[in-house]
Amino acid sequence: MLQLESLVFNPFSENTFIIHDETKECVIVDPGCSNAAEEDRLFGYIDSHQLKPLMVINTHGHVDHVVGNNAVKRRYGIMVAAHPDMHNDFIQAKRQAVWLGMQPVGDIDLPDVDLQDDQEIKVGNGMLEVICTPGHAQGSISLYARAEGWVLTGDALFCRSIGRTDLPGGDFSTLRESIRTRLFTLPDETEVFPGHGESTTIGEEKNFNPFVAV
Ligand SMILES: [Zn+2]
Ligand SMILES: [Zn+2]
Repeated sequence: MLQLESLVFNPFSENTFIIHDETKECVIVDPGCSNAAEEDRLFGYIDSHQLKPLMVINTHGHVDHVVGNNAVKRRYGIMVAAHPDMHNDFIQAKRQAVWLGMQPVGDIDLPDVDLQDDQEIKVGNGMLEVICTPGHAQGSISLYARAEGWVLTGDALFCRSIGRTDLPGGDFSTLRESIRTRLFTLPDETEVFPGHGESTTIGEEKNFNPFVAV
């Protein structure tokens, strides 16, 4: 049974997720740790639970979600997996930090492993499914734990909101289509864990999200 732990990092209050199960294998989704203290919190969780990191997975390439990639890669000797359409955002992430008024960040390596729509990622005895949900950024993905009944939506779908679409590669109608056809088709009781803010469910967002009327 996959378990989810979230830590909130960087000036954008980004949710970094650690997914693990009874085998102690884990993946780190969107490591947003942006300084040594935040890295210590992430590594402290992983090390104190004696977890065995398999890979980093990025839901998209915005700097608040990838800024900790290299630190995690270096510490655990693991690879970064992401959708290939995100590469441009990885290249721009350092510059994006400047636009957004963050502390300067170093270069962020391009992903090592390409993920595709519907791909299954084994974590211990559990399984995550890649669901392509572009629109907030190119190549954005969600990660669905079907057996556990939850989904990580990155910055595509938030509690009562959706991701901004004014950044390069963003497109509102694409995002709305992604949410309607790929997320709102999941069971209503599915718990939604977004890249920022609190959790919600698919059913609640179908009823109450003002940006994506069903
Ligand atoms: Zn974003
Ligand atoms: Zn974000």
